[in-house]
Amino acid sequence: MTRRGQTAYVGLGANLGNREAALRGALAALADAPGVRVLRVSPLYETDPVGVTDQPPFLNQVAELETDLAPDDLLALLLAIERRFGRRRRIRWGPRTLDLDLLLYGDAQIATERLHVPHPRMTERAFVLVPLADIAPDLVIPGTGRCVREWVGLVGTKGVRRWKPSASGTASAPIES
Ligand code: ATP
Ligand code: CA
Ligand code: CA
Repeated sequence: MTRRGQTAYVGLGANLGNREAALRGALAALADAPGVRVLRVSPLYETDPVGVTDQPPFLNQVAELETDLAPDDLLALLLAIERRFGRRRRIRWGPRTLDLDLLLYGDAQIATERLHVPHPRMTERAFVLVPLADIAPDLVIPGTGRCVREWVGLVGTKGVRRWKPSASGTASAPIES
């Protein structure tokens, strides 16, 4: 089924290879996809790995989309873009060149074998909530009764630092603090 003009949020992450190029390339691929418009993107953050902690730091970002794609079709697009950027699924929560998670799709609550929306772990993850709060602080996360800003207040911002993209896109450094 096609639904016109739904607002969706996608979490982007990478911790192998040229992380910044992967995120930028993924956003370009989303913007090029039929039925998808990229409305807003958060700043980039460098984040400590969660769960499997013995792996390099991530770059994370969140994008707001307007889409005519049904949730399943949007997920299929995200997985196809991951594959294009060389994602190989090995260890769960292990290192990856690109991870694209469908965080929110309008006010939908979906639980199928392939797709859970809102993303079930998003309200535990500062690396998702902090960039999401930059673009949608007052958005209420369906099923939780709390907005993104409130979730950031509960979860905190530990392990999540603003990242300054390089001018050239080839090398980057954290913002001095
Ligand atoms: P996490 O889901 O905890 O962030 P992960 O991103 O490492 O972990 P993946 O290996 O990328 O997990 O995803 C495994 C599967 O999760 C995908 O193939 C997809 O079918 C399923 N999935 C369920 N809900 C979602 C969602 N909201 N966004 C992306 N994938 C989802
Ligand atoms: Ca993920
Ligand atoms: Ca994923």
